[in-house]
Parts: sequence; structure tokens; C-alpha cells
Amino acid sequence: MKPMNEKHFAILRRHMVETIGIHSDLMADELGKAALDERVLAAMLKVPRHLFVPAPLAHVAYEDAPLPIGFNKTISQPFITALMTDLLAPEPHETVLEIGTGLGYHAALLAELVDRVYSVEIVEEFANEAELRLRQLGYHAVEIRVGDGSRGWAEHAPYDKILVTAAANEPPPALLRQLKQGGRMVLPMGGDEAQVLTVVHKDADGGVRVREFIPVRFTRLETVI
Ligand code: SAH
Repeated sequence: MKPMNEKHFAILRRHMVETIGIHSDLMADELGKAALDERVLAAMLKVPRHLFVPAPLAHVAYEDAPLPIGFNKTISQPFITALMTDLLAPEPHETVLEIGTGLGYHAALLAELVDRVYSVEIVEEFANEAELRLRQLGYHAVEIRVGDGSRGWAEHAPYDKILVTAAANEPPPALLRQLKQGGRMVLPMGGDEAQVLTVVHKDADGGVRVREFIPVRFTRLETVI
């Protein structure tokens, strides 16, 4: 059998976006709307997800399922990635901090949507791989650092938006500090078994409001003492 070519991947990518459309329509009650942001869907249609998964899994990259990327970690199912990006409400002029780069797929999506992306990854091998893939595809707006993302990246703070792609019991205090007033953070919040996709708003006076969406399951945000 021949390997898949770019034309095949483009068709599967369209199917992925259509599946996300069905998924969000079915969850209209939980989400408070029936469709995700058009800009987010356009970015999902563009970013070659098959180049951000381990090569042997390229043929299943566009299925609406999480995929293993090594070191006991997974990348999220496309619907959840799309939903998190939608909840982040990224604007073109903004700077976003991502915690948990993985192989860089979500960082590439963000780079399609905002001006500047900083991403922190605790596993050096992932950071190196992500860096390589993003460079090869021309995503120069993304900068990656190896470290414990629960401490954020103070040098470039404050951020308009913060996306955390691993689960935490509460919003890490350093990240709240590095978020702009009026900014928002999206994270899976809760213990090992069950988490809720949560949006944390930091008000103009520095107060915090929390809005919970749907149940999710993520690997944990590891903290280094
Ligand atoms: N955002 C990626 C998915 C990453 S999976 C994508 O959508 O493609 C979650 C990632 O968080 C893993 O790569 C894991 O190594 C990383 N991680 C876990 N704890 C972390 C921490 N404290 N700081 C930075 N990264 C962390």
C-alpha cells in the first residue's frame, strides 16, 4: 500500500473540522453556543496535525481522539484542543503563554491566531522535537523553554492569555500573577481522576472569577520542588 500524501491529509483535516462541528453542536447546552469561533476552526483546517504526532501515528492524526506522544503523555483529542482555544478567545495582537508544549501542535494553532506564543515544556525531548517541527514549518512566533511551567515564564509576563494543557488542582499562583488584568487562563482543573475544563478570568481589579465547562481527563501538571 502507498503511504498517505498531502492531498489525503487535507481531506482528513476537513473531516476533523466537520467532526468538531458535530461535537460542538451536540454540546450546545453545555457550551452555551452551538459552534466554535470561525478563526479557531480556520486554524485547525490549516495546521498539519499529522506533522505534530509521532510519525507512525500520522495516518490517525485527524481522528477525534487523543494520541500517545511518548513519556506516558498524550496530545488532546482535536475537539478538546479546539474548545480550549475557543475558550481562550485569542485576539491577533495578543501574547499567549502555553504550559505543556508536547510536540507543539497547540502552539502552532496559537501561532496562527495571535502575535506571539511562549511555551514551557518540562520534558526536554519534547521541547526539542517541538522546536524542530515548528521551525521547519515556519512558526517563528513561537518560543519554547524547558522548565516547570507551573512557575510560568516571568521574563515575558504579563500575558493576555494563558493556556495550561496539563491538569492542576488549582490555578498555579505564579501563572495568575503573570496574567494581565482583564486576561484569562484556560486549564483542566481537578484531581487525578476527573477534571473540569475551566476558564479563569482575572478582573481589572485583580480579582478572579472561575467558569467551569465540561468534564475532561488530562495528564497531570508535574511540579518540581
Ligand atoms: N499542548 C500539547 C499537549 C501537551 S500534553 C498539544 O496540544 O499538542 C501535556 C504536556 O504537558 C506534556 O508534554 C507534559 O510533558 C507537559 N507538562 C507536564 N507538567 C508540566 C510542567 N510542570 N511544566 C511544563 N510542561 C509540563
